[in-house]
Amino acid sequence: MSASVAQIGGGCADAPVLRERGQREVFCGLTGIIWLHRKIQDAFFLVVGSRTCAHLIQSAAGVMIFAEPRFATAIIDERDLAGLSDANDELDRVVAKLLARRPDIKLLFLVGSCPSEVIKLDLSRAAQRLSQVHMPQVRVLNYSGSGIETTFTQGEDACLAALVPIMPRSPAPAGKSLLVVGALAEVVEDQFSRLFAAMGIEDVAYMPPRKSVDLPAVGPGTRYLLAQPFLAETARALEARGAVRLPAPFPLGAEGTQAWLQAAAREWGIGKDRFDAAVAPARARAEGALGKFRNELGGKKIFFFPDSQLELPLARFVARELGMNVLEAGTPYLHRQHLAEELAWLPAGTRLSEGQDVERQLDRCRAEKPDLVVCGLGLANPLEAEGISTKWSIELLFTPIQGFNQAADLAELFARPLVRRMKLAV
Ligand code: SF4
Repeated sequence: MSASVAQIGGGCADAPVLRERGQREVFCGLTGIIWLHRKIQDAFFLVVGSRTCAHLIQSAAGVMIFAEPRFATAIIDERDLAGLSDANDELDRVVAKLLARRPDIKLLFLVGSCPSEVIKLDLSRAAQRLSQVHMPQVRVLNYSGSGIETTFTQGEDACLAALVPIMPRSPAPAGKSLLVVGALAEVVEDQFSRLFAAMGIEDVAYMPPRKSVDLPAVGPGTRYLLAQPFLAETARALEARGAVRLPAPFPLGAEGTQAWLQAAAREWGIGKDRFDAAVAPARARAEGALGKFRNELGGKKIFFFPDSQLELPLARFVARELGMNVLEAGTPYLHRQHLAEELAWLPAGTRLSEGQDVERQLDRCRAEKPDLVVCGLGLANPLEAEGISTKWSIELLFTPIQGFNQAADLAELFARPLVRRMKLAV
């Protein structure tokens, strides 16, 4: 598979990007269920898939899967229309049984998988049909978590994008409201809410909400901040409803968090004094807590394999706030608009890559002997066996890492594998 260099438009804003389209080592979008099911507490994710899909979710998260693996497997075997109508009947039956047993469910996601996409089972039609049956108690939506040509964080993007059409319309003419988009730990949301309130921004909502019945309203008065860098579809859907994105880096590290908050402050016309009074103490604490990790990690070489789409903001954080030497920052997709501020902040000369040709990338990685590699689970074990310390990128999705109070926790995630290896070496 050939690699090519293309130009994108201080730091790495105009740096060349190595584009690779070869074999990839990534999880599928079903993985998002692991954090989303905790986040939206009255929602249920019903994977319509095979035994492989059920095993993936169960072994990764212990999530109960109510789709009968037999049902999905039978669909793959029987690609005829009769099989499809059976599949729909079976799905209706499983959903009815599930909802009768679980009156706490207010929102049901039918999550598509590779098998359901291969046989072209129309889950959006099924969701409409089932919504008609079960509304108003339960709304049924669908999205795809299939691993065909996707990466694992796209599951969250697809899920949130499916929610946008059912968000209430904000009354017009409306004042401005702030929407923070991307699943965050509740502790992080609470900290952000306190900071926004101290700055003077009171009308703040989060997407996804903790309860599906509390979906925030959206409209031309909505200004939104992305809390995660992998939400291209969701952003498109929000903008189609009139919302306007506030360009900002992502709230990782002290510097990233300050700039992210500043984007809202600018939009709301909040003066420097008020902003500093609200934010400076938390920022100073975060910077102080990062000092220890700068000593441990400064000058260490780090290599990011493309996996979570968090790679560029993370590379920016470790380079600028921890003094690490980023050998390569690989990302599955490079969304230039959403990442413009991150690119501008990356140290000039950082090698950027998009997509993957895993063998070539492994060759580059081995040749440069990084101190730490951030990668998916599939690559971590072989690299560890070769004596290279690794950090699983998926951990960065399960751990609260955004905001000032979490900056040191984020740094520690990078320090821990190195400390562990040093201890093993003693
Ligand atoms: S959705 Fe596709 S990639 Fe994911 S577990 Fe199921 S079969 Fe495997």
